[in-house]
Amino acid sequence: MSPAVLYRQLPGEGLDTFITEFRKAAARDPFGTVFIVPTSYLAREVARRLGDGGASFVADTVTTLPGFARKVFFEHAAAETPISAADSRLILARLLAAGRYPLLAGTGAVDELATLFDVLVMRKVDYPAALGDLASAKSAEIAALFGAYLRFLDGHGLVDESTLFSRAVRLLAAGEFRTVFAYGLFEPMPLERDLLLALRESADEFHYSLPYAPNPAVFPDDGEWLHPDMVVSGDAPDSHLSHLAGLFSRREPGDCGKFIRLAERRDREGEVRAIAQEIRDLLAAGVRPDEIIVAFPDLASAVPYVEEVFPDFALPYTASGGRPLSASPLVQALLSVLAVPARGYRREDVVALMTSPYLPNAGGCELDILSREARITAGNWDGRLAALIFALEEERARPDSAQSRLAEKIASIDAARNTVRGLFADLSVLEGTKTVHEHLAAYRSLLERWQAPVMPAEGEPDLREDEARDLRGFMETLAALDRVSRLFPEEKVALLEFSSMLTLLLAGTRTGRRRHGNAVRVVGVREVAHLAVPYLFVGDLVEGTMPRLTTRLPFTTDAETRRLATRSKEDILREERYHFLAALLAARTRVSLSYPVADGATPLVRSGFVDAVREAFSPETWGNSDLPDSRLAAARRAGALLARGEVPAGMPPPLTLREAVRRLNVENYHRKGGYDSPYDGMLGDDPALTERFGDGAVFSPTALETYADCPFRFYLERVLGLAPLPQIDPDLTAQERGALVHRIAYRFYSGWTCDGNGPVTDACYADALRRILDAGREEAERFAFETPAWAADKEHLLGSPAAGRGLLERFLRHEAEVAASRFVPHAFEVSFGLPVAPGEVDAASVPDAVVIPLGDGTIRLRGRVDRVDVMSDGRFMITDYKTGSSHHRLKDIMAGKALQLPLYLRAVETLTGREGVAGTYYTLRRGEVRNKPVFWDAGLKECFSCFPGSGRSSVGDVRDLVDTTLSWVQRYLAGIRGGCFPPRSDAGPCPAYCGFKTVCRFDALRLITAEGNPDGTD
Ligand code: SF4
Repeated sequence: MSPAVLYRQLPGEGLDTFITEFRKAAARDPFGTVFIVPTSYLAREVARRLGDGGASFVADTVTTLPGFARKVFFEHAAAETPISAADSRLILARLLAAGRYPLLAGTGAVDELATLFDVLVMRKVDYPAALGDLASAKSAEIAALFGAYLRFLDGHGLVDESTLFSRAVRLLAAGEFRTVFAYGLFEPMPLERDLLLALRESADEFHYSLPYAPNPAVFPDDGEWLHPDMVVSGDAPDSHLSHLAGLFSRREPGDCGKFIRLAERRDREGEVRAIAQEIRDLLAAGVRPDEIIVAFPDLASAVPYVEEVFPDFALPYTASGGRPLSASPLVQALLSVLAVPARGYRREDVVALMTSPYLPNAGGCELDILSREARITAGNWDGRLAALIFALEEERARPDSAQSRLAEKIASIDAARNTVRGLFADLSVLEGTKTVHEHLAAYRSLLERWQAPVMPAEGEPDLREDEARDLRGFMETLAALDRVSRLFPEEKVALLEFSSMLTLLLAGTRTGRRRHGNAVRVVGVREVAHLAVPYLFVGDLVEGTMPRLTTRLPFTTDAETRRLATRSKEDILREERYHFLAALLAARTRVSLSYPVADGATPLVRSGFVDAVREAFSPETWGNSDLPDSRLAAARRAGALLARGEVPAGMPPPLTLREAVRRLNVENYHRKGGYDSPYDGMLGDDPALTERFGDGAVFSPTALETYADCPFRFYLERVLGLAPLPQIDPDLTAQERGALVHRIAYRFYSGWTCDGNGPVTDACYADALRRILDAGREEAERFAFETPAWAADKEHLLGSPAAGRGLLERFLRHEAEVAASRFVPHAFEVSFGLPVAPGEVDAASVPDAVVIPLGDGTIRLRGRVDRVDVMSDGRFMITDYKTGSSHHRLKDIMAGKALQLPLYLRAVETLTGREGVAGTYYTLRRGEVRNKPVFWDAGLKECFSCFPGSGRSSVGDVRDLVDTTLSWVQRYLAGIRGGCFPPRSDAGPCPAYCGFKTVCRFDALRLITAEGNPDGTD
């Protein structure tokens, strides 16, 4: 047995001496000397310092305890193969899938079980016996799976990362490592202690440096378990370090001078910005970047802020932790190849695959739009695209169709259909249930055939380096999966399962990080212990990240955790205190702590450790809101100066002074107050507008109503020709429902009146009902939907014993109720200014637009009137069918927001020479069937008394009302022709149906504060 020397020292203390002694011993006995440290980061740092000092040593003799266990294992074990953590998770996943463990299923089960098993092994817990009377059906299942897992490893000669420790203890040969230096291991777990004790037994010299201070709140382990022959106590002088080491004890407050500082910041980004500025100040004072460490308790969630902020301050940095391979865009693209067939050819998956720059398939953007129009959600792409072509062919056959546009569209759908067919044929080789090896072979072969991934030939060098590294990692992961798959040579899995296995492996594999020589180091707090760094920043000190008090073991209750005697809440708090304190002790010149007070709108609670530091040392604050070295802040300052009319000393590149002034003027001048600039759609006179919307132009009431509601929407839709992406609706859309009802009403009434019938009355009701239901059934048959929603829609249209009277029957009932009005249904779908399609519009329809006098000019109008009812004296009423829930009222007509009924009325007057006396909206929807006059001639009271709810819509003179509408139209035409397209002037919310919200900068607040005319114009 070796003489064991125990050094009780502050974290970081005596490391130089250990390095010096190791160097000497390794020079004498390079293979028999080993240096064990707690983290890979520290192992790399020690190796670097040894290398810098010119020492030669065997690389893997400076290592962590797991690294040392692996080294012993590799040098001795011939029959067994070590596996990675990801491999053991895959094996667990297979066992879980193959066995009967109903209580252990669920998302994340594999990860949690792997963590639990690791704890059971490393803490040498006799499970489930240790649970005693707390044992349950669930613990029996866990034990059964654990047993199956261990038997599987044994049976296949495998060793996972935790059982490798016990193997190393057994395999370690006496005298193999003659000089051992173990430094900074904090509270080793039972199995780790076994390995250390085995080393102590077998070595000639054993030096063990225990992180220690006389502060039981943090350092309860005095190392007596090692049975040392000699104990050397550190002699930390009465310095700020010894003061720091007393943190969390109930000592009197100490003085750390300016060594430790503390700051509160608004949010996480503000915190990282303040750190970046402090670093810039240090660099300006001559400090080297590599003399600075920035540490976060949760490095992975802090790195995105660092990546955003540090480049803005031009700070070179290197982050210690890589991201999971599954987060790499390149890897995600490669995974999407599997995801498409595995998830049933979902629309979004196929579009993602087709738009990825890493894959050779082109045309994704067009396919995105076409698949929306074809209403594809997943599955039958070919059938849906064929149905879309069929519908367009039908439309093309109509005389009023836009032939060349439709032909073009059909050709592009045809091309997309061929592309999709080819793609799916390629992907079909991946489908089916196969062994993992077969899945891998098919996947690799397809990628090879596609020559995927496509790697950019040029671009940002760092990015290209990252992509090449991610690709290497991906290929290695495929190889690892292939290796593990040989353990289950006969087992077949579905493609979805194979895809999940690969994703699981990639999620557990981290990419490497770019390393820069002289750069600020960004690390996790737990990696800082024992380093010696002049300047240390520790950020994000909030509850939940530090301390993170997660005591519960996966799949165990608190009571079970206590019974298993793994780690109590107190143990974890002490451990967290240790890591925090060890990090502070690594700083040599100054440590700057900070915490954010909020995360977006969520308030954050500062860490209790911050309060402990405050009480113990009354630290000064650091930093302020000035960020002179931020390019972003410089741009803001320059902008503020320019806005005040002052000229800044310089502009942050690449912005020029002229461009900055232009942008500021847009925001601060043009986009303030009333709408008066081109930036608000006030384009002014433009010959192109005059030509397009001048006297010869034909308008529809809908277009004019769009302008009336929001001129900017009119501009986007009708001038620029933009359209929002189509929604994907696998059922009847609102538009289709409207067209269906219109078509049935047209077919019924045109046939009914053609056969010499008059209004529907009780006498002819049965015949009318039969005819309208026949027409309804035939029209409904034209839709090929098979969804439950469509089945319900049909029932509500046609009626059924379950749904009761259908919409069509209720329509006829209402018709019979208002038959007493003296108005007789006369013409249906009267169109003007549109191509005339026989059989679809009334015989009175004309292809030419109706010209309506308008002040000293005219307007050319096109449209289609749903229905015209006439009285015996020739006066008429027009009706518009509505299948939606809201429609205009009389006050909207007066306000110039509703134009359709008055314009249609005047158009029919112009066409027929008759007099229009009323306009109605006929609501035809599930909850309501009612023909409601919106306006009617007050002299015809006896005709309209049978219309429910018509009491307040009579007008003294319908012609006056129409003239009011025409005066509004005159204003709108002047606005359109004069290039006046401001956003809507109603300060209320924009209508839900507007699809331009994402590109429109409508601001209700601005409208409220704007001075000027009520419509927002000056
Ligand atoms: S979001 Fe509002 S202001 Fe903008 S285009 Fe739509 S309706 Fe007009």
